[in-house]
Amino acid sequence: MAGKWSALTDDLGHCYITGSGRAAVHHVFPGTGRRKLCEKYGFIVPLEPELHNMSASSVHSNPNRGLDLQLKQECQRYFEAHYGSRNEFISVFGRSYL
Ligand SMILES: [Zn+2]
Repeated sequence: MAGKWSALTDDLGHCYITGSGRAAVHHVFPGTGRRKLCEKYGFIVPLEPELHNMSASSVHSNPNRGLDLQLKQECQRYFEAHYGSRNEFISVFGRSYL
């Protein structure tokens, strides 16, 4: 995980939601080319497997709803506070989540 950082947490080793030590790094905005952009802007977050992609209620199973939407909104708010305007966010990540 060298070089990776998250705008949402200083602790990439523990689940952002539950604090579990069984955490994998999730890229908040999926899609071709977006993984690198997520890493550039810090829009990655550690999640335990059940929340990440190993259950029917995981963020990968429920895009743009529930926790997945919450994480996207947190990242967009961070973008608008630190990087640029809403239109700039949309130009990078395709749409607004707010
Ligand atoms: Zn993921």
